Amino acid sequence: MAELVDLRSDTVTKPSPGMRRAMAEAEVGDDVYAEDPTVRALEERTAGLFGHEAALFVPSGTMGNQIGMRLVCEPGQEVLCDADAHVVTYEMGAAAAVFGISTRTVVSPGGRLDADQLIAQVRPKDNWHLTATAAIAVENSHNRGGGLVQPLGELQKLWDWSRKADVAVHLDGARIWNASVASGVPLSTYGRLADTASVCFSKGLGTPVGSVLVGSAERIATARLWRKRLGGGMRQVGVLAAACLYGLDHHLDRLAEDHEHAQLLAKRLGVDPSSVETNMVVLDGVEASLVAEAAKARGVLVSQVSAHRIRLVTHLDVDRGAIDRAADVLSEILNR
Ligand SMILES: *Cc1c(COP(=O)(O)O)cnc(C)c1O
Repeated sequence: MAELVDLRSDTVTKPSPGMRRAMAEAEVGDDVYAEDPTVRALEERTAGLFGHEAALFVPSGTMGNQIGMRLVCEPGQEVLCDADAHVVTYEMGAAAAVFGISTRTVVSPGGRLDADQLIAQVRPKDNWHLTATAAIAVENSHNRGGGLVQPLGELQKLWDWSRKADVAVHLDGARIWNASVASGVPLSTYGRLADTASVCFSKGLGTPVGSVLVGSAERIATARLWRKRLGGGMRQVGVLAAACLYGLDHHLDRLAEDHEHAQLLAKRLGVDPSSVETNMVVLDGVEASLVAEAAKARGVLVSQVSAHRIRLVTHLDVDRGAIDRAADVLSEILNR
């Protein structure tokens, strides 16, 4: 049988030979002493890309998000976000379980940010009766929104309002790279519309592990304490940071190819291509478990988001030939 085509997620990517070489050759030191030159280089470079003063390498996007939110929200205060946001869906209730942070959600169709809708829900910090809204978390691109790119106008509107209202904005930018490549909006523009941002290297950029949290120098100094407290202090971890630097050098611009592949899949499978903004294709109204099993039997792995929804994610380990093969298999199964 031909090689498996794994479209479950862009997290399944394996480090390429070039990335492995960069890892093997990385200069390292003890990062808990802040002495790993490769980690420091990655932190400086990432902070620069997003126009922030400082950055911190963390083991996962979840840790980046949760520390990021803790930096801008005290225990007993709340973070407001979309009901389908990763921070409240896939992070195991960490904000409450670990940090004593309350979360409140609004349903936004498709995960699309509507600044006015969120702003209307914000509760003041000086009221004796109400839980104070300290921060709003925004996800870009939106995972459960099928890789949707948040409209820049809405991000700007939320940011402008937040400065007057003294409410912080945290960006879950696990796939901000995809959003930027797809929209042409520079990373620094997205960066300056957030107080804290967590970005992942282990998705489309193809590293085995690694995320970076960016923010002000003062906040990132506090983040360093939280990371150690949570057991995220790592030692000669330049081997992982080297993979991230390699990902920035070699796998960032090529995300456009993943987006083209997603468009191809959409067209072949009868999905409206305009609903596909980045590297994800959502198939709605299908018997998800039946389709997933039939596809698996023919060497194509897909992810079941719900009983009637399947998600396909393109990434650097799926080339054009594999995309065509997956489209053949899926279109036959779906009879499209
Ligand atoms: C993957 C992802 C994260 C982080 O996930 P980890 O597995 O903890 O690295 C955060 N936010 C979004 C939107 C994601 O897709």
